[in-house]
Amino acid sequence: MKTYKIACIPGDGIGKEVIPAGQEVLQALAAGGSDFRFEFTSFGWGGDWYRAHGKMMPDDGLEAIRGMDAILFGSAGDPHIPDHITLWGLRLKICQGFDQYANVRPTRILPGIDAPLKRCGPRDLDWVIVRENSEGEYAGVGGRAHQGHPIEVATDVSILTRAGVERIMRFAFRLAQSRPRKQLTVVTKSNAQRHGMVMWDEVAVAVSKEFPDVRWDKELVDACTARMVNRPASLDTLVATNLHADILSDLAAALAGSLGIAPTGNIDPERRYPSMFEPIHGSAFDIMGKGLANPVGTFWSCVMLLEHLGEPQAAARLMAAIEEITADPKLHTGDLGGQARTADVTAAVISRLNNR
Ligand code: ATP
Repeated sequence: MKTYKIACIPGDGIGKEVIPAGQEVLQALAAGGSDFRFEFTSFGWGGDWYRAHGKMMPDDGLEAIRGMDAILFGSAGDPHIPDHITLWGLRLKICQGFDQYANVRPTRILPGIDAPLKRCGPRDLDWVIVRENSEGEYAGVGGRAHQGHPIEVATDVSILTRAGVERIMRFAFRLAQSRPRKQLTVVTKSNAQRHGMVMWDEVAVAVSKEFPDVRWDKELVDACTARMVNRPASLDTLVATNLHADILSDLAAALAGSLGIAPTGNIDPERRYPSMFEPIHGSAFDIMGKGLANPVGTFWSCVMLLEHLGEPQAAARLMAAIEEITADPKLHTGDLGGQARTADVTAAVISRLNNR
């Protein structure tokens, strides 16, 4: 029997509610006749850790999770701690420390979800957005001078390396190739950003030669937002820089019905380090501690985690159970206009898994 070691980092806010729900569901999957089991280790890092220790995670935190098979992450965000500390001190520390350079965000309209695009059938929106996750606009390069004086200056420098662009393009082309439509849209802004994005385009052309069976096109990021709304079926796999994909994927989540549903994976494709899976929503302090959080984003993240571990059958079983419960409006949480609670949705998924 295989044992997968999973690091669970609930973080802040509703992360503390949805991650235990995800663990319950994974446990139920493993118990139901699978040839694997999970060994979970929880880490109480985040805002509370910061209040106690002055940092979001211990200095040797990465060492503690380096040997894990995967990481299940909740959210990091605290109304009393500046956002740049909560983000850079935990989530980005893990993403960068483990060189998880591909951020993958699937988006679909799940059965039963009332999505805002009225002219769009459920099958018209089936995308995977690949976000460059290690450099670009969020490379952390820049600084401030003359702080507090009228001549203060602040810079954020976008860094694109040829090696960094090549590896994310190759990953995106390979992912597109693995999907039925074999279609990739390279999102760019080379009309206005005349250096990094021009190299981005050139690398796309070069890497595309390795994938002659993938149809690909180029789209400016601003035009891409309109295309997502007006012609969703014309898109399949997309690849974009850190900032561009950050914005496009929130739009994608909203178009698919709710932030509470969307999952993401921070992947180290070379598997040198554990990859990290998380719902895309934040800590949602307005509903924390009330048992109202939608756990579906976490469950779908667990599907991605299982696929990454090489358990496609278990992943498909869990996805089917998720789609059965989203199809039932009685099991919709508040973000979807329903009254169900986190525990109701979790119990319903587990009961579907047990009946399969
Ligand atoms: P952060 O600052 O940590 O990014 P946030 O609270 O500003 O988090 P989100 O958590 O991304 O922002 O979500 C915005 C709002 O959407 C929340 O305040 C909450 O009302 C709702 N929401 C988000 N995720 C969920 C969920 N899983 N279940 C129910 N409602 C949610």
